[in-house]
Amino acid sequence: MVKICCIGAGYVGGPTMAVIAMKCPEIEVVVVDIFEPRILAWNSDHLPIYEPGLEDVVKQCRGKNLFFSKDVEKHVAEADIVFVSVNTPTKTQGLGAGKAADLTYWESAARMIADVSKSDKIVVEKSTVPVKTAEAIEKILTHNSRGINFQILSNPEFLAEGTAIQDLFNPDRVLIGGRESPEGQKAIEALKDVYAHWVPVERILCTNLWSAELSKLAANAFLAQRISSVNAMSALCEATGADVSQVSHAIGKDTRIGPKFLNASVGFGGSCFQKDILNLVYICECNGLPEVANYWKQVVKVNEYQKTRFVNRVVSSMFNTVSGKKIAIFGFAFKKDTGDTRETPAIGVCQGLLGDKAMLSIYDPQVPQEQIQRDLSMHKSELDKPPHLRAVSPIAVEQVSCVWDAYEATKGAHGICILTEWDEFKTLDYQKIYDDMQKPAFVFDGRNVVDVDQLRQIGFIVYSIGKPLDA
Ligand code: NAD
Repeated sequence: MVKICCIGAGYVGGPTMAVIAMKCPEIEVVVVDIFEPRILAWNSDHLPIYEPGLEDVVKQCRGKNLFFSKDVEKHVAEADIVFVSVNTPTKTQGLGAGKAADLTYWESAARMIADVSKSDKIVVEKSTVPVKTAEAIEKILTHNSRGINFQILSNPEFLAEGTAIQDLFNPDRVLIGGRESPEGQKAIEALKDVYAHWVPVERILCTNLWSAELSKLAANAFLAQRISSVNAMSALCEATGADVSQVSHAIGKDTRIGPKFLNASVGFGGSCFQKDILNLVYICECNGLPEVANYWKQVVKVNEYQKTRFVNRVVSSMFNTVSGKKIAIFGFAFKKDTGDTRETPAIGVCQGLLGDKAMLSIYDPQVPQEQIQRDLSMHKSELDKPPHLRAVSPIAVEQVSCVWDAYEATKGAHGICILTEWDEFKTLDYQKIYDDMQKPAFVFDGRNVVDVDQLRQIGFIVYSIGKPLDA
């Protein structure tokens, strides 16, 4: 029986391994993590992450061929294939701080693999890492290997949070990079055999190691760049009276451009886009390519600008001050169908409004209230760390209250900011909400989810990203 061990039971390691276990019943899959509460949660009825469809998959396989354990070394030692899916945040100190990837977790995982291994292994980079990381990992493994053969593969993950299970069941492509040597090619074939259980072979792309590593950074950079491009257009739309939805529709009809990922918003978030672009910027700089670095840097700058622009619009619309005014925040997760708040644009927007002394009443259907409080009371550098390593500020943000209901959030409020595109925000009883609010009542739709005409008819003053302004 082939044994797989995955180091890191997070947003990638957990769902990916659950799907491998489901699709490959003859393979034993153990997901390990040093963060015990996460492992306890994976073994309970309350999984540590929210992802549509995940619970069914886990329940089907857990205890049969899918296991979650804190016994990291034991399961790594027993595995034939070791996936490494640990976090790779942005470095906060030292050389490359603020841009380079922090590979501390990766390096300690690699050293541990070398220490405990007694048989040959395939080591798979599942985390997103800088191009050429495999070279460093190979050095660490071979210099500590005591005669054991390690083959390194790059198999970056392209799932998107919120649709992870769907993406894993039906991936656009699976990418496997390896050495061109016979041993490297044999390792590629072994991993290909795992995915071939459910992924059509023409969608399994095999490349050299560096192409696979760089493709992941490139894919995230292209996706984020598309969002920043449409957001940059949204600013111009507001200035000219054009409507960004109409512009997106028109340009998306060009088959060379295509219609996906063209929704204007308050900005992109999530743990990956910003960190991966900054990492790309750093790699370009290290390779003597400052103009290329500047090009990608601009994608992040536009994203920051979009949040600032949104906050400025809220404050200027509300008669140039939100001091002491209650503002309901609809949505805190970085996108719908996830409870993940890493790098969510909601943090920047809320902090901007708090800076102008607004009183915020925040509602998100999936994000725990303590998490919102913690995110808002933390320094930016803390947010780059995984949750269990963050220093939780003891000072609760007095201007913030978190509620479990959109109607509660809006009672007596002067305005509403929609920051996550949860479906339920489309179908709320906005007449009832309007009746309970201060007048004039404002809606600032950072995701273009509401029916602007309907809300204006009720009496709201509505601002939607990239849309003609209220008269
Ligand atoms: P995460 O923080 O949710 O999970 C990482 C886990 O690794 C944590 O639970 C941590 O405790 C554990 N860990 C760290 N060091 C360890 C060690 N030495 N031994 C055992 N466990 C250890 O991170 P994530 O969101 O799952 O992302 C993992 C990687 O995948 C990152 O490189 C990320 O960029 C990449 N990625 C993420 C996504 C996404 O949507 N989240 C998508 C594609 C790729």
